[in-house]
Amino acid sequence: MQADIVICGAGIAGIAAARHLAAISGVKRVVLVDERPPLTLTSDKSTECYRNWWPGPGDAMVALTNRSIDLLEALAGETGNAFHMNRRGYLFATAGNGETLAALAHEASALGAGPVRLHDGGAGDPSYTPHRPDGFDGQPDGIDLIRDPGLIRRHFPWLSPEAATIAHARRCGWLSAQQFGMTLLDDARTAGVTLVRGRVAAIDTAGGRVNSIRVETPGGAQTIAAPGFVNAAGPYAPDINRMLGVALPIALEGHVKISFADPHRAMPRDAPLVIWNDPVHLPWSGEERADLALAVETRHLLAPYPAGVHGRPEGSGDSVILYWTYDVLSTAPIFPVPHDPAYPEITIRGMSRAIPALAKYFDQLPRPYIDGGYYTKTPENRPLVGPLPIAGAFISSAFSGFGIMTAMAAGELLAAHATGESLPDYALSFAPSRYDDPAYRALLADWPESGEL
Ligand SMILES: Cc1cc2nc3c(=O)[nH]c(=O)nc-3n(C[C@H](O)[C@H](O)[C@H](O)COP(=O)(O)OP(=O)(O)OC[C@H]3O[C@@H](n4cnc5c(N)ncnc54)[C@H](O)[C@@H]3O)c2cc1C
Repeated sequence: MQADIVICGAGIAGIAAARHLAAISGVKRVVLVDERPPLTLTSDKSTECYRNWWPGPGDAMVALTNRSIDLLEALAGETGNAFHMNRRGYLFATAGNGETLAALAHEASALGAGPVRLHDGGAGDPSYTPHRPDGFDGQPDGIDLIRDPGLIRRHFPWLSPEAATIAHARRCGWLSAQQFGMTLLDDARTAGVTLVRGRVAAIDTAGGRVNSIRVETPGGAQTIAAPGFVNAAGPYAPDINRMLGVALPIALEGHVKISFADPHRAMPRDAPLVIWNDPVHLPWSGEERADLALAVETRHLLAPYPAGVHGRPEGSGDSVILYWTYDVLSTAPIFPVPHDPAYPEITIRGMSRAIPALAKYFDQLPRPYIDGGYYTKTPENRPLVGPLPIAGAFISSAFSGFGIMTAMAAGELLAAHATGESLPDYALSFAPSRYDDPAYRALLADWPESGEL
């Protein structure tokens, strides 16, 4: 078999790259190789959210996500919103004075996330536009920073009365990642992309360039001659890099989430994504506290848990998704991702800090569905998109917790690198060659904030 470019991995990264290369850049023979069915390793495990709220240094993450959201909105427009993209926003809440939240909001705004509108109950307050549950048109961008308790209670009566400041980031929401991925895959196939079921087992790089790729298929080994290759192998990207003789700083982190039926409607069906931005002491009764304090194995349940528990309603029934990385669960690709047996209870109790009605489930915990995958991460939590130091080899990986939201722009960026089209300003920030720059390596030693959720 002969190809112009072989992409290893039919997760969202590989599919988005294949689709852009074939359907937009006009590359003829694109072959997508995966040993699993498309979109089934990490890309179907996400919470499916998107945001343009990111910290620095620099504006690269905001620019990449803004571009990706532009392209997502355009695709949603062309397909009659086939993947149910909404723009409900991210609602960060704190019981504190909100200085940290305000600083993050102003930072994201200065980097391109849109204006900050302060609502503190003063005479000159701008008007607050509530979000719509469906669709994405006609919504404000930027961030509504709300310190007016009356406004918070009026629009979010189900939120903890302790929520004193909220930041409603507006160019954010969620979509159906599976339908989004299948839309891209259909486009790719229509444009001539071939999907091969098999495992990339070796890459011939004699002469310092990509020559061919050996794929083990159910029908036997097959060699695909190709001058181009893309590593889009998600959590297996380090293995593929080893086949290429390339070393890049990529680590894995296991993350899980729960979903469960919410017959009490504790989470309003039209809520945005809700994030509690303060550390949490799990709520227990006095008796429970005394019991938990007795045993060494349960004492940690009384300690403060880190900020960031979050959740949202899911679909049109009564399902709710909750997600909290209070601990890194595994750093090896073991499937299913091992998790703390107490994760569902800890997460429901933790989220009740933001949405007190969840306490209705303390006595009889719902039976949750638990799933998860790996964040494939660089040390500074920025993706790797661009050429590798082997002629014809590229990478599109390390998408951590943002691979769905960045897929459109990452596919476009990968295709621009591979075809020699002009590159956007943010290209260098994501190119693997950034680690060759001593100034960048120095910055890494003191990287301020990763923006991980
Ligand atoms: C719990 C959780 C929540 C998340 N929430 C969000 C969110 O809200 N928003 C967001 O944008 N992102 C989110 N993410 C991140 C997002 O899911 C990932 O960044 C994204 O799915 C990564 O896609 P990928 O294509 O790089 O990897 P994958 O989907 O893992 O695809 C890699 C593919 O490569 C294949 N492969 C590997 N090695 C080989 C080989 N040798 N031969 C053949 N095939 C091979 C695998 O079979 C796999 O299909 C979340 C992730 C998790 C785990």
